[in-house]
Amino acid sequence: MNTQLIHLKYIVRCPACSGGLIWHSGSARCDLCDLEFLVVDDVPVLIADQIPQRTEGPDHAGLLQFLPPRLHPIANSSRRFVRPSLVHRSRHTRSLTHAFTASFPSDATLLNVGAGASNYGENVINLDIVATPGIHVVGLAEHLPFRDAVFDGVLFQAVLEHVGDSGQALGEIRRVLRPAGAVFIEIPFMQGYHPAPHDHRRFTEQGLRVELEQHGFLVDRTGVAVGPASAMAWVTGEFLALLVSGRSGRIYRIARLATDWLAWPIKWADSWLDTHEMAHVIASGVWASARKPADQDSSFDGPRGSHHTP
Ligand SMILES: [Zn+2]
Repeated sequence: MNTQLIHLKYIVRCPACSGGLIWHSGSARCDLCDLEFLVVDDVPVLIADQIPQRTEGPDHAGLLQFLPPRLHPIANSSRRFVRPSLVHRSRHTRSLTHAFTASFPSDATLLNVGAGASNYGENVINLDIVATPGIHVVGLAEHLPFRDAVFDGVLFQAVLEHVGDSGQALGEIRRVLRPAGAVFIEIPFMQGYHPAPHDHRRFTEQGLRVELEQHGFLVDRTGVAVGPASAMAWVTGEFLALLVSGRSGRIYRIARLATDWLAWPIKWADSWLDTHEMAHVIASGVWASARKPADQDSSFDGPRGSHHTP
C-alpha cells in the first residue's frame, strides 16, 4: 500500500507536457495531452516513453544466462550471497546521508531519485524506474513527474552515472527543489562498469562540484562517499577474472564468482582509509551537498541550460 499516494496527487504532473493529472481507479489521465498512465497497486507509473531496458549483450547477461529461467527469481534474491558487494559503506559514509536527511524539519518533503531499496523515513518520496517494494512513484530522473519547487530536499545516490542526459537530470532536480532546497548526490569515481540498465560516466570530486555549479547549484561540501579500498577490491576482482579467463567471456563471468570473493576482504580497509585526506585520488565514489539559490525560481538557464524543461 502506497501511503504517499494522497500527498503525491497534489504534487505530480504529466511527465510529457507538464499538464495536470485527473485520477481514476487504476489510472491517471493528463488533462492537457490526454496521455494515460497506469496506477498499479497505488503506485503511479508516470513515464511517457518506454521504460529503459537493459540492452541484451554478453557484457550484461552475467551468470543468469547459465541458469534456467525458472531459477532467475531465486538467483536474483540471493545475489549478494553469490556475488559479494565490493562497495563498503562505512559508518562515516552512512552518517553523511543521515545528517543530510536529519537537517530538515519534520514537515519537510524529500524526494529520493532512484531510491531502490533505500528507506530514509516517512517524509521521503521514493522514485525509481521500476516499482519494487517501498517505491511510491515510477518515473525517470530526466522527466521528473512533479510540479516546480515542491521538494525541500533531494537524494540522488549512485544514479547520475546511469541516466542518459546528466544535465537534464540535474536541471529537473533543480526545478522540483524549492528555492534554497538542498540536494545530496553520490556518484562513482573508480568503479567497474555496472549497467542498470546503462552506465555512462564517472566524476572526480572536483568534477562533480563543477558539474553541479554549471547546472545552477551552490555547492556546500564535497567528499569521498566510498573509499579507495572498495575501488581496489572492485578492480582486483575484475582484473583477476580477466587474467584467468583465457580471453573467454564465458570463463570470465564464471571466474568472477571466485575472484570477487577473493578481492572482497580488501574493501574492509575503507573502515579507516575512506577518511584519509588523500582518499579522493582513487576513491570508489564521491559525494556533494548543494543548494538551489534562494533567489532563483525554476526558470534558471545556465551555461548548459538548454536542457531546461518548462
Ligand atoms: Zn500531458
